[in-house]
Amino acid sequence: MNWKWSSLKFIQPLSLLLILSANLSCSQEPEQVSETTPATSSIALPDVSGEVRLRVANVTNPRFPQLSDEQLQAILDKTSDMVKQHFGLTVVFEKPKAVSIQKLFETLPEKVIQQQQDKIVKIKEVSEADIISMQAGIYDQLGGYRDDKQAVMDYARPYLLSPVEGDDFKQLSVALVDTLLKRLEYWHSQKAEDGRPIIDDMPYNEWVWWDSLGYGDMSYDIVITNQLVASAEIYDMSVHSSIRGGITAGTTTFSKQARYGSYVYIMVYPMLNDSKMLVELREDESYTSEQVTSYAAALLTHEIGHQLLHLGHPFGNSKCIMSPTPLLKYREWLEGLDAGECPLNSEPAMTPGFVSIDYRADW
Ligand SMILES: [Zn+2]
Repeated sequence: MNWKWSSLKFIQPLSLLLILSANLSCSQEPEQVSETTPATSSIALPDVSGEVRLRVANVTNPRFPQLSDEQLQAILDKTSDMVKQHFGLTVVFEKPKAVSIQKLFETLPEKVIQQQQDKIVKIKEVSEADIISMQAGIYDQLGGYRDDKQAVMDYARPYLLSPVEGDDFKQLSVALVDTLLKRLEYWHSQKAEDGRPIIDDMPYNEWVWWDSLGYGDMSYDIVITNQLVASAEIYDMSVHSSIRGGITAGTTTFSKQARYGSYVYIMVYPMLNDSKMLVELREDESYTSEQVTSYAAALLTHEIGHQLLHLGHPFGNSKCIMSPTPLLKYREWLEGLDAGECPLNSEPAMTPGFVSIDYRADW
């Protein structure tokens, strides 16, 4: 979800450290309860026995630092190696297409925009109702961690911006939303090199739209972007992204035209920029070009594990590339990985088909 997948739903309840997005729809989207139940379907587990060819777009916002063509190719080459190493699959990336972020967002269907826009929490006008929805959503997810409360508290506590006594999950939900909103505010107060706010009036930072692009006319399996995706929404909020201030570095989600049913985006903004907040979340001042290549490739490999094998998150097993990056500590994450110690089928979350990727069949 890394970190957050919009539509990934776990079909086995075994690891209670998993984030159950499917459970959220009732408590977080009350408007759907009173209407007819949305028509949802699941993507079939792809056949990946032969060579897998993936179409790539390099989606850029000209306002922010970008990957060079050489860097982009190095990331894809390294990803092919890592996918082979961690999952035993042969993946070939087609020549990346350069796409402007404006053009990409123009492919969002009007109907989906209409139905999704009220899922976004507008940071400049957060209402009490928004805060209550967000807290309730996170609290719902925390319910899955009830057998491992202390581990969750230990994980979250160092990064919370308001203190939590004991191990009360209600208090933790409040603190997580508070932390998310404060850290997200940071991005709204910061300026890019062009002197304009990093998050301006454009919708590109909103995760909801990245989660919705697959319903439109988009023919890429992999999107790599230099855009910052940082936002608050009323569905699929996770502990991880809340602590980071709503930053979602990668997502695997349904796409109509994708060859394997879903598309992946990863963002390299947190690797190419050195804002104070990023330095704090990464615990590194800056990255060399080699580090950018390695970390972006690892992030992309993780998402491809969701995309092609429908793998889950083996939380707590730091040898597994499917275990999410803690905060944005890419160096620590990558150094801990060991493909030999985390083969496919070695645990439930590493078993193909562990998650199901759902989508709205009526969109
Ligand atoms: Zn993931």
